[in-house]
Amino acid sequence: MMDVQATVTTQPAVLILLGPPGAGKGTQARMLEEDFGLVQLSTGDLLRAAVAAGTEAGLRAQAVMAAGGLVSDEIVLAILQERMAQPDLGRGIILDGFPRTTGQAAALDDLLARSGRQVTAAISLEVDDEAMIGRVAGRYTCAGCGEGYHDSFKLPATAGICDRCGGTEFKRRADDTAETVRERLRAYHAQTAPLISYYARKNILQTVNAMKNIADIRNNIAHIVTKVCP
Ligand code: AMP
Repeated sequence: MMDVQATVTTQPAVLILLGPPGAGKGTQARMLEEDFGLVQLSTGDLLRAAVAAGTEAGLRAQAVMAAGGLVSDEIVLAILQERMAQPDLGRGIILDGFPRTTGQAAALDDLLARSGRQVTAAISLEVDDEAMIGRVAGRYTCAGCGEGYHDSFKLPATAGICDRCGGTEFKRRADDTAETVRERLRAYHAQTAPLISYYARKNILQTVNAMKNIADIRNNIAHIVTKVCP
């Protein structure tokens, strides 16, 4: 007979990275992939892929994303559930940019509960809003491997060549303008920041000072993940 207790305790981890645009969720999620064999699930990336592919969900999401608002829970949940049904989820997942509303958080709890699981930890990246506008407005990524760069804070060692994969194509997100970032910050404070107390009440909230340098933040998050992941 199957050992139910063993099955429950070895369930893959579900980590959430919370924080406003520019806090470094994507950067840190990729580092967690490298450090712990976890898999990053970014609803922003999934939605951008749907827009690029011209799917029905993508067409419905496109204008809202361009304006810096939140896409409906219905679309986001459908797209996330589809991704979570794939078999390649490694030792667990890092949710980057999800949940963003208390409705999404409750839906995630329900979804996980169906397979006897729950959120392992929510890690809140704490930053100053004003600094986020500068961070987001100058950022871009390598089109080949997704490595992140910034016009002022992090240029490739050799101009025009990605440090990580040697690629020479880079891209900027259409919604990374100062004006759209302000709207995204407003959406964050109105609809996503309440999740900090949602997870604090469940005793699974961890906070990290994300105004430090990337390596320090990585170490602090690694320390938390080592503690909370089985
Ligand atoms: P991100 O890449 O996480 O900054 O997300 C880019 C944009 O995608 C956001 O500004 C929203 O328009 C949309 N989006 C991403 N994730 C969500 C979510 N969980 N709920 C609603 N909208 C989302």
